[in-house]
Order: sequence, then C-alpha cells, then structure tokens
Amino acid sequence: MTINDAHCHFFSSQFFGALALQKGTAQTAGEMCRELKWDEPGPADALADRWIAELDSHDVSRAAIIASVPADEASVAEAVAHHPTRFVGFFMLDPSMADAPDRARRAIDELRLRAICLFPAMHHVPLGDPRVTRIVEIAASRPGVAVFVHCGVLSVGVRAKIGLPSRFDMRLGNPLEVSKLALAFPDVPFIIPHFGAGMFREALMAADTCRNLYLDTSSSNGWIKYTPGLTLDAVFTAAVAVAGPSRLLFGTDSSFFPRGWQKAIYETQKQIAVGSGISAADAALIFGGNFERLFPAAS
Ligand SMILES: [Zn+2]
Repeated sequence: MTINDAHCHFFSSQFFGALALQKGTAQTAGEMCRELKWDEPGPADALADRWIAELDSHDVSRAAIIASVPADEASVAEAVAHHPTRFVGFFMLDPSMADAPDRARRAIDELRLRAICLFPAMHHVPLGDPRVTRIVEIAASRPGVAVFVHCGVLSVGVRAKIGLPSRFDMRLGNPLEVSKLALAFPDVPFIIPHFGAGMFREALMAADTCRNLYLDTSSSNGWIKYTPGLTLDAVFTAAVAVAGPSRLLFGTDSSFFPRGWQKAIYETQKQIAVGSGISAADAALIFGGNFERLFPAAS
C-alpha cells in the first residue's frame, strides 16, 4: 500500500528564527535547538534531504510539508524544488498581513506550493472576514490549490517548550465556518486537520454538507479526551460513514529531528483501519490515494 503523509511540518532555520523574533530573544536557530534537544535543521536543502532519507526508511512515498510560520514559503519551496515528486508544499499564511494576497500568489505561481494554511485562532482573523475571502479567491482561481484550516484546540508544542505565550482564540476555528467557505467555493478542496481537533461533530456536519471538504487524520488525536468514552476507532468509523473513504487524508503531524517520521501514528491508524473493517481499497485511498488525487505528483 502506498503511504502518503498529508501533514508534516518543515521546521526550517527560518522557522526557529521567526520564533526567536516572536519571543524577543537574540537566540539563533542553533541555540534554540540545543535548548530543545532537537537537531539543528541547517539549510533548507539539507533538511529536505534528511526528510527524504527519513521517508525512504519508512517506505513513505510522498509528504505534504508545511511552512509553519508566516513568510517561510521559500524554505519549503526549496525542498519542493529539490524533490518535486516527493514533497507537496503547504504554507502558513496570516491573512492580517498587508502583503498576504501577494505572498499567496507568489507562493503558488512562482514557488509552486499547493496549499494555503490558515490558523484563525492564532492570527485572530475570523473565517468570515473579507481578508480571508480574498485569500480563498486566490486559491479558487488556481485549480489544484487547496485551503487547509486549523480548527478546534490549537497547541503548538514548540511554542510552549520555548516559553512563547500563545494567546490563541479557539472560538475562531470552527468547522462550520469552514463549511460556509467551502459552499461558497465548491471547487476548492478544504482540509480540516485532526478531524476538527475537538470539534469532531462540527467537522462531520461540515463534511456531510460540503463535497469539497476533507478531514486529515493526523497527530495522536489527543482531543478525543474532550468527549467522554470516545475512541479513535469510533472516530474513524464515523468519519468513513459520513465523509466517506474518499475524503479522509492520512497524516502524522511529524515535525522535528531526531524524532523524525511518526511511525507509531501510522501503525495505530493502520491497525484501526483494519480492525474497524475498512476495506483494503478504502484504506488505500485514506493512506495514499486521496492525497495523490488532490496533489498529483509533478511529471
Ligand atoms: Zn500540525
């Protein structure tokens, strides 16, 4: 079975540099990584090569890599340029930045990135805001470009580890708001990660009413603790029943080294897929086929 990972973070040197800036320290990426006991990413091409070796060692065919701070499109673009058949470039965009539309156009048209990632809780821009609409319009005018919207509970592990305050407004990341956008832009694929990260019911409602809405399965899905008795098995079963196997995208949420690719998340989800009676054909869609259809490998 082909494995494509729809959710990995590309923690570049620029990513750590941006966090240092937000924190207001003069720390370099290297110093920050030493504090975290993580490997220093080095130049983007070196990090890209390390990712490829990691994917190879786990038989992962392709991966979405996310530029995980605004304005880090170039790092992911460099990785994609070196390995265009293996990586699909996603990028975080802050719609409140004056140059957000220009950045989005450039990232897609020149840097060949494929998905705009919105974090409304982090950037404090409601999904109904015209600043978001103009970003989605850019995706809509470029077939093959998806919009990823983080909903539900948002915690960024690295921010907590380095003591960076995260004043996220969770009210802004609601899958029902995504459904409004998805209905207005029916040709744009929308991706909600982590099954809605605590807003599973809303994510299912959105997926049920919007054919262009996808759910990613990534991370340990610790949010299931918010619903007493809920299991990841039940989440998979309900997601397949409502969204169908064609609109679920396997992902791990892997990010830093030396931890590397999160095989345990794959193993758990694979076991759940088998145990809950998902057919081999449907599992092939969830673990690779849907990603391939949304983001065909560049020929
Ligand atoms: Zn993530």
